[in-house]
Amino acid sequence: MGLSLYIHYPFCANLCSYCDFYKIPFNTDLEREYFRALNCELILARETIDPENRSIDTIYIGGGTPSLIDLSLLETFIGELSNCFRFSPELEFTFEINPESIDSEKLLRLKELGINRPVFGIQSFNLKKLKKLGRKHLLNDSFRAMYLVRATGFDNFGVDMIFGLPRQTSRQLSDDLDQVIDLAPPHISYYQLTVEKGTPLAEKVAGGKLKLPGADLSAAMYRAINEELRQNSYFRYEVSSFALPGYECRHNMRYWEGGDFLGLGPSAHSFIGNHRFANEANLRKYLDCINNGKRPLICDTEEKAARMTETIMLGLRTSRGVSKTDFLHRFGRPVEQVIDRETFTTLVARGMIDPEGDYIRLTESGIFLADEIVIRLIK
Ligand code: SF4
Repeated sequence: MGLSLYIHYPFCANLCSYCDFYKIPFNTDLEREYFRALNCELILARETIDPENRSIDTIYIGGGTPSLIDLSLLETFIGELSNCFRFSPELEFTFEINPESIDSEKLLRLKELGINRPVFGIQSFNLKKLKKLGRKHLLNDSFRAMYLVRATGFDNFGVDMIFGLPRQTSRQLSDDLDQVIDLAPPHISYYQLTVEKGTPLAEKVAGGKLKLPGADLSAAMYRAINEELRQNSYFRYEVSSFALPGYECRHNMRYWEGGDFLGLGPSAHSFIGNHRFANEANLRKYLDCINNGKRPLICDTEEKAARMTETIMLGLRTSRGVSKTDFLHRFGRPVEQVIDRETFTTLVARGMIDPEGDYIRLTESGIFLADEIVIRLIK
């Protein structure tokens, strides 16, 4: 049986105003300590997942800013990984990169270390908007990164983009779309900017210093993204994920389809054999646990109801939808018993949900309202 591995690298050179991921300012000594602990966590976690009978088929190093990594520490860690686990010959190995922290030498080393799917956090081609988000890269950094990734011989790579930026107009979105389509990455994640509680962005929006596009303009932008990307051979396989045929992210598909994954590093989550685990989202506490020979877990089980909700939520975000058979098999209850029947019937009648066949899926009109629909559907 396949298994996915997520590694959270918590360091950033700069803290962006909208971000609520767990991250701390980069520090060389702490980075060394973090890698030492990560190697120990790997050995502790290995015991729990029957490594003889499972191979790793996807690895994802995210953050934080993994492109700041000291490559010699990464090399040692990957060596430990391959001692602990069997890698599938079809391994998909994703690595997140900020455009300002990459050069040709680093990309080549990453390739030599087995990374075969770099993903670049470009977000926008509008410098003013990037500054509003607190991103530090310049447009040249993005173009250079796109040139280098091809020159280094990666055929599978992705770009992360954001829409709904402060005061973004349809024209500005269209400029971003033109640029990203010109660069033709095999995979594009196009997220809507969300205001996360406690971030500097949330404060500015609440204080009226920044204004985000309203609901109608955001919906129009999402439609434009779908239309433009579809016309350029990308297909949407999840609310925010678009790929050229054959370039879907297998790692993310595993999350969305409820498969097993092991998360390492502070704040990483795992889902193994129907049990959910979460690591301490604090580097100091994480290091203390490991130094005491313990796994840095803050919880080790999850209520069945929460897992059912999550399965519906993640499934509805994908183009395939929620499989009625799989749901029954996993939870022993038909999905129809878990959702609000009246809301479901109304949403089907309004053309938001397609209930035909084994899958319950959102239609074109429903997909943009995925989060709202899930809230209404879950009893
Ligand atoms: S968005 Fe990325 S680079 Fe910016 S603070 Fe968050 S993790 Fe760091």
